[in-house]
Amino acid sequence: MRGVKELPREEKGLGRTGYGRQWSAAELSKDGFEKDSRVQEFLTKVDFETARGIYAELYARNGGTAADMNFIGPDRFYVRTKGGTTASFLPDENIITINKTKEGELKLFSGAHTFYEKYPDSQYFAAPDLDDATFGKIDAIFNVFHEEAHAVSSNTAERISGFFASFFEGEKYDVTMGYGTLKTEHQIFSGELKTRLLGEIVNEGVTQLMALNVLSEYYRRKGTDDMGISSGDAQKYISCFNNDLFKIGFRRKPEVEFVRIFAEYLASIAEVPREIVWQGIVRGYLRGGNLFDERIATAFKEHGSEKIFDLLKSFDTSLSDESFADFNVALSLSRRGDAIRTANATLFETLPQDSKEYLAEIFSDDTGIRVKKAGSDWIPFAEMQRRIKEEEAQTQEGSPQTA
Ligand SMILES: [Zn+2]
Repeated sequence: MRGVKELPREEKGLGRTGYGRQWSAAELSKDGFEKDSRVQEFLTKVDFETARGIYAELYARNGGTAADMNFIGPDRFYVRTKGGTTASFLPDENIITINKTKEGELKLFSGAHTFYEKYPDSQYFAAPDLDDATFGKIDAIFNVFHEEAHAVSSNTAERISGFFASFFEGEKYDVTMGYGTLKTEHQIFSGELKTRLLGEIVNEGVTQLMALNVLSEYYRRKGTDDMGISSGDAQKYISCFNNDLFKIGFRRKPEVEFVRIFAEYLASIAEVPREIVWQGIVRGYLRGGNLFDERIATAFKEHGSEKIFDLLKSFDTSLSDESFADFNVALSLSRRGDAIRTANATLFETLPQDSKEYLAEIFSDDTGIRVKKAGSDWIPFAEMQRRIKEEEAQTQEGSPQTA
């Protein structure tokens, strides 16, 4: 199989380029970026040195120098008013923002209120086996690691407009963040933004999957952190994130599933181990590669897999639908999640059996789950399975028809 092994080919380069110098504290303050004591207090409990070390190893493995890595320290965390997202990395300013609603609420700390999912074909409800405060703290750290991954990934701004275009329309830039690309116009007449949604889905999925790995490694190294979170707690959070039972309570989950399924698919058509494919994906993310370049398209064709490309195309179209515009963020996010899940299910079906089994194990990891019936106490997941089996056996004994 030629090609896929060295994926991706065209690379934009490591680090943050084309943006010029990062904004100064005075410029940031003039533009409404503030410091917030609640955020700064929380950041003192995040071990930035350990997190930086983990990212630096990934960076070095992909040809970078740790000292050049664009890792954001606690001094460049700001607060701004922005609906929808909890936190953001802004490459232009080169800061991470913790976002505040119009009402002044910081979603980073609003915590996960307990959520339940009905366990199919039973009277049980499942929830993460963590108290709300612990869950909320892990979730907040996870958010920080997610934005750090964006910061560390390839971030480029390339001016694409000619002289006349820039004279009449303002300057146009091709902005690339990891696998996401965006055309921006520093607008005079219009501020239309065009984004390749599939690239954005892959980019968010890779970002979140990398952050999940960093979260796991961070707690493996630390044991227990300054907030009293243990590595065991973090593992429970991660298994709940992975378990496809939970449709709510975790951000960017359909995107992560997409990347996992897509990576299995690439591994199967390229006939290389999944670890190699994942390393290739990480490399492209950090070095600004294109996952959908010509060579990959050729590889798909050689395997008679054009239908997968068609699937990805129709998926892109359905996601580009204007109804996903962010006037109603919650609604558009859930519809978007549903659209990705539908595509995931279709793509999953095309996988070879061993890939299906491998993913099924991840998607059904129950080690972080506790369950209860309405009005009863929590019990471990395994105990529920034992009781369900017992009940089934009793029903069968009692009904001659099923013999
Ligand atoms: Zn993101």
